[in-house]
Amino acid sequence: MAPIYLDFASGDACERRMPEALVEEEDARRMREALAAARHAREAGEVPVGACVVAEDGRLLASAGNRTRTDCDPTAHAEVVALREAARRYGNYRLTGVTVYSTIEPCAMCAGALIQARVRRLVYGARDERFGAVESQFRLCDSGSLNHRMEITSGVLEEECRAAMQEFFRARRRAGMRAEG
Ligand SMILES: [Zn+2]
Repeated sequence: MAPIYLDFASGDACERRMPEALVEEEDARRMREALAAARHAREAGEVPVGACVVAEDGRLLASAGNRTRTDCDPTAHAEVVALREAARRYGNYRLTGVTVYSTIEPCAMCAGALIQARVRRLVYGARDERFGAVESQFRLCDSGSLNHRMEITSGVLEEECRAAMQEFFRARRRAGMRAEG
């Protein structure tokens, strides 16, 4: 894997940004990583949400899927699991400078965790109309009362991210009907 962020990391981030097309390509590549984690979660019977954390220099710090059932832990959402692992590897609970990719718009708990970690940028795939706390239900990440401002990009591989969720819930409903019938 070529370290795409090299130029970006070596100079002032504001003056030496990656060209837009490269950012989009990198975002899609990382979102595929998050989608792979979502697929693994799905295979383990979890809601298929995946997340990954990428350092400023392009290093992948962590990648995780939902683990709430597996761990019997209501806080084990993909984003939180990935942030924990990333902080351990980073050696700092502040993840200043990292980008977090999530297949689905983070919920209030995860948005709060992203803020606590001082994440620089959040990229997500599909909106979550019911629980989304970035733009759908609340706008926690750009609340004016916080002095930490996060850069947000949404809609990356949106269709694939949404399809994974829809397919999961359809299958679950079908299974539910079979169990009842
Ligand atoms: Zn969450």
